[in-house]
Amino acid sequence: MRTFEATIEQWKEEAERIVRPRFEEIDAIVEHNQWKVIEAFRSCKVSDFHFNPSTGYAYNDRGREVLDELYAVVFGAEAALVRPHFASGTHTISTALFGVLRPGDELLYMTGTPYDTLHKVIGKTGDGTGSLADFGIGYREASLTPDGEVDWDEVARQITPNTKVIGIQRSRGYAWRLPFTVQQIGDMTRKVKELCPNAIVFVDNCYGEFTEKLEPTEVGVDLMAGSLIKNPGGGLAETGGYICGRKDLVELAAYRLTAPGIGAEVGAMLGTTRGIYQGLYMAPTIVGQAVKGSIFAAAMFELAGFASSPAWNAPRTDLIQAVVFERPEQLIAFVQGIQLAAAVDSHVVPEPWDMPGYENPVIMAAGTFIQGGSLELSADAPIREPYIGYMQGGLTYSHVKYGVLNALQNLFDRNLL
Ligand SMILES: *Cc1c(COP(=O)(O)O)cnc(C)c1O
Repeated sequence: MRTFEATIEQWKEEAERIVRPRFEEIDAIVEHNQWKVIEAFRSCKVSDFHFNPSTGYAYNDRGREVLDELYAVVFGAEAALVRPHFASGTHTISTALFGVLRPGDELLYMTGTPYDTLHKVIGKTGDGTGSLADFGIGYREASLTPDGEVDWDEVARQITPNTKVIGIQRSRGYAWRLPFTVQQIGDMTRKVKELCPNAIVFVDNCYGEFTEKLEPTEVGVDLMAGSLIKNPGGGLAETGGYICGRKDLVELAAYRLTAPGIGAEVGAMLGTTRGIYQGLYMAPTIVGQAVKGSIFAAAMFELAGFASSPAWNAPRTDLIQAVVFERPEQLIAFVQGIQLAAAVDSHVVPEPWDMPGYENPVIMAAGTFIQGGSLELSADAPIREPYIGYMQGGLTYSHVKYGVLNALQNLFDRNLL
């Protein structure tokens, strides 16, 4: 078995000691959410036959219909649309936005610049890609304050009579800021509705699900979207996304996913249904493993002398652990070290490349069972200053620990520590 440098081993002992009380908090959240999910399965009377594959139009696929109900119950929403037909988180968010926005409307992001892949969804007037802008849908954003808080004066300035959707991104994406907790999102929603009573508050919930006891749709958010190859897929869903929230808005999103008039009533699930159900069942516990892994990583990188966010003792509302490196070689060694620790493709060395939808070269460690699945241990970084590596996921806490130790050892081996 792999052994690590004595100093790294010492940091490990120390990190495990200091994070122990945090793990009790995480266990309480896991138990709450695990029971919440089981009770939702019970109230929806989930049965073995719901897992059967469907084909063709798949009219009256009970498994698909009950899955939508189940997500709605778990997320405290009126309705949900859970489909393997969403190709990614970006596709899911894009479907929600196109579903509810109309020419002349404006989208306002109140949490600063959204996640990189959404820039092309927002687009530019006349770009010819069918972006929101190409359809005459305007875009504004209110930057966050330098310490990552909502700038309310700026939000008020950016609201116009055309503001239709107000976007909140819960997780940090590739920005150096803390994620917004569910309580903060609830407060933001209440306050922004005072300024703009008819706006639809939309939350990009990627990486947030089950990290807290409540979800944004339980604190007043109108519409929310996320990816099934992140938290709620539990590592078992093979592909897909979910949209949930107000019934009328979810229906509009469904019209956009399939076709107006058809909506959620068609869509063959093929063989994906069981994995999506079982993944949701597993998700609270697996997310707990990943959160513990992030807390351990925060403590380890702090002991190793790197700035890391959130701190090991800070509240958690997503899976992302950001670590700041001084030089690009350290960043690359970190990501490659995480890949070295993978169960799948550990022999592959990731290199920076121009990924579709991203504006800088990105390096990704994704030695995962589900391609790009980031509830599994993974790390990524755009190669740009400041050199921040983002790690997330891990289906077992022990695997994250192994990943962090390998990453630090890789830095040590290259004289970068
Ligand atoms: C991952 C992510 C997305 C996009 O999901 P993809 O599956 O990568 O398209 C959007 N927003 C946030 C905050 C994310 O973390």
